[in-house]
Amino acid sequence: MRVYLDYNATTPVAPAVLEAILPFLGENFGNAGSVHTPGQRARAAVDSARESVAALIGAKPTEIVFTSGGTEADNLALFGSVAVATKPRKHAITTAVEHHAILHTCEELKRQGIDVTVVPVRQSGEWQGIIDPKEIRRALRPETVLISVMHANNELGVIQPIEEIAPIAAEAGVRFHCDAVQSAGKVPLDVNRLGVDLLSISAHKFCGPKGIGALYVRTGTSLAPRFFGGHAERDRRPGTENVPGIVGIGKAAELARDLLAEDSARISAFRDRLEAELLARIPSARVNGARTHRVPNTTNISFPRAGGEALLISLDLQGIACSTGAACSSGSTEPSHVLLAAGLSRDDARSSLRFSLGRPTTAAEIDYAISVIPSVVERIRSLSPRGPITAGEPQVAAR
Ligand code: PLP
Repeated sequence: MRVYLDYNATTPVAPAVLEAILPFLGENFGNAGSVHTPGQRARAAVDSARESVAALIGAKPTEIVFTSGGTEADNLALFGSVAVATKPRKHAITTAVEHHAILHTCEELKRQGIDVTVVPVRQSGEWQGIIDPKEIRRALRPETVLISVMHANNELGVIQPIEEIAPIAAEAGVRFHCDAVQSAGKVPLDVNRLGVDLLSISAHKFCGPKGIGALYVRTGTSLAPRFFGGHAERDRRPGTENVPGIVGIGKAAELARDLLAEDSARISAFRDRLEAELLARIPSARVNGARTHRVPNTTNISFPRAGGEALLISLDLQGIACSTGAACSSGSTEPSHVLLAAGLSRDDARSSLRFSLGRPTTAAEIDYAISVIPSVVERIRSLSPRGPITAGEPQVAAR
């Protein structure tokens, strides 16, 4: 049996999305910038996809800029905002648990002379992994031009208090960007309720194709482009439109919106069962991150004294695909920056696995995972220099 539990890394393209895309890889090959009939057909498809993506996040179609994915949307938001800011010194605020698409972009901003404050998250208890909005207020300076805080964390699944940070940003007159790549399609998103000026999403996290995403840009928010060329995306992101990708994200957004309530109820029930059974069957296993403020599909669990990489490989041999953290850092020996920021020791961070469920996840897959994971952890632990954890050892309470 093969069980895929790594939907935060990527998802399969939904059959209806594939069906919607195929004609645009075949007979409907027109350039959306052309005036003739094939071009108009492509333009109509792009316009309709823009409406679907806007509807998923409560935006206007004119506020959607298609990009090559979440990374580009994040880069456009950060570089594009800092470039238009007129303050003589510039400062940006972000958090310690952001995806590298934000953190590495901030490192580049620093190299370009921009000051960046990285706000910590709470390291224990019911808010583990979540920032205290007061920390954002404390980090503000007269020269602050941008705040960027993610919505759902890709490793822990915890949801940051975006609605509480928005008024702090607005009061200070600072623009507010949110990386919502891991929450789109998992929880309801409304840019007006969240109060953000910019918001990034990526299709391949919600059953759309890879290489297509979008940046929401609130009406009236100026943004310097990163690319120069034609006038596509109202000059904000020139280049011939990726029509099949755009059609794909549009259809995926439509499905996500229609299925959200149903998906999240089913998926969270599976996730909770998997989590409860693993905690009950595996001594000293504990959940990382706040358990109440989370997306429905993610659980991150530490299995002290069992190396994450060894677990990952053994589970893969048993047909189970999961992750030790962000996909891009798999294979690296460095523990996850998110888990360290959330207060885990380096050893515990190295002994943690992320299980992320998706629309195709079935009860039979969860049963299989529950039957296999405990014995794999036990075997890896028995190979650890400190030997297996015995029944008499104190158990660490689950958080
Ligand atoms: N932001 C977050 C929170 C992510 O999880 C990811 C992907 O893992 C990205 C950004 C990057 O998105 P993309 O893979 O579309 O470039």
